[in-house]
Amino acid sequence: MNFQNPDKNGYYGDFGGAFIPEMLYPNVEELQRNYLQIIESEEFQNEFQDLLKNYVGRATPLYFAKNLSEKYGAKIYLKREDLNHTGAHKINNALGQALLAKRLGKHRIIAETGAGQHGVATATACALLGLECIVYMGEIDIARQAPNVARMKMLGAKVVPATSGSKTLKDAVNEALRDWINNPETTHYIIGSVVGPHPFPDLVARFQSVISKEIKEQLNEKIGRENPDYLIACVGGGSNAAGTFYHFINEPHVKLIAAEAGGLGVDSGESAATTFLGTLGVLHGSQSLVMQTEDGQVIEPYSISAGLDYPGIGPMHAHLHKENRAEFFSINDDEALKSAFELTRTEGIIPALESAHTLAVLEKKKFEKDEIVVICLSGRGDKDMETYLREMRS
Ligand SMILES: *Cc1c(COP(=O)(O)O)cnc(C)c1O
Repeated sequence: MNFQNPDKNGYYGDFGGAFIPEMLYPNVEELQRNYLQIIESEEFQNEFQDLLKNYVGRATPLYFAKNLSEKYGAKIYLKREDLNHTGAHKINNALGQALLAKRLGKHRIIAETGAGQHGVATATACALLGLECIVYMGEIDIARQAPNVARMKMLGAKVVPATSGSKTLKDAVNEALRDWINNPETTHYIIGSVVGPHPFPDLVARFQSVISKEIKEQLNEKIGRENPDYLIACVGGGSNAAGTFYHFINEPHVKLIAAEAGGLGVDSGESAATTFLGTLGVLHGSQSLVMQTEDGQVIEPYSISAGLDYPGIGPMHAHLHKENRAEFFSINDDEALKSAFELTRTEGIIPALESAHTLAVLEKKKFEKDEIVVICLSGRGDKDMETYLREMRS
């Protein structure tokens, strides 16, 4: 089975597609028609690869975590996406889409953001490439993510509050979609994860696939084989996981593990573990697993980490889950916090709270001695210091 790319209608098995209002057809169809031809062109790849290398700082190191390996009895490598410019993997996709937008003749970029990480990555790409940038953000999120709002403004983006509904991410998505419908000629919508209508999940996965391309080369260089035994990544919408799995996904001997946010516990009512709690539904333009009530109302998710606090999961991951190609773990807030402190004290690396969810899998899964385990460290912990400080005081 091919898990890597969707069919021509954007389906990974039962999941994906493009469920959008008719008024969005022109925008989405323009993308569907053009994205592959543009991003596979030599001219695009030359510019993209140059920026990844000289601006983002790629290739990111594949670091052998000796202390962690001794503790868990496996050979553990960390893929250091935390060392990218702006502090996480999100910049890979934001830059790729900004370059694509320019080639589609768009000079205006819109995005939505919850915690502000995708907003910062998008504002960064727009500053670099001279594009106008408007970021929609729930009013409540603007209040609780002040440092990222300041970064976006300093980078020249306009931050527009979404004041309807719960005043959080899903309301910001609605505002962004409304904007896109009204400005189809001038505007590209940079979606931040492997979610949304076809072709966004495939587009974002391709831009993030640089992660697994590098892992292959780096493993080959370090241990003389390009496939690990395990790959572990956290899943909010699923973009860093898609990038980590991409070039290994059709290699059945490489075991894939995804860590979702359990929040206060899968059965607590305060969780974001979509594969445990979700059912088939449509969210943000594609069919996938969605946390919803019996009559289809989206359930407000919860996680201590803003990047995993999402009530859905990209269609690629829903398919990996259904076909048992990937194993999913639900990691609770307290387990992620404990792992964040453990990594900090054993390796001197302060991880993002999202990334800390992957490290907690090491306690739950038994590895054979000398098995090769590659963990995607999706981001750095600077943005989470307030939470870590609170934990140290308690
Ligand atoms: C946004 C974010 C995530 C979650 O997004 P994915 O699309 O699932 O990768 C994970 N880690 C970090 C550091 C993030 O900023």
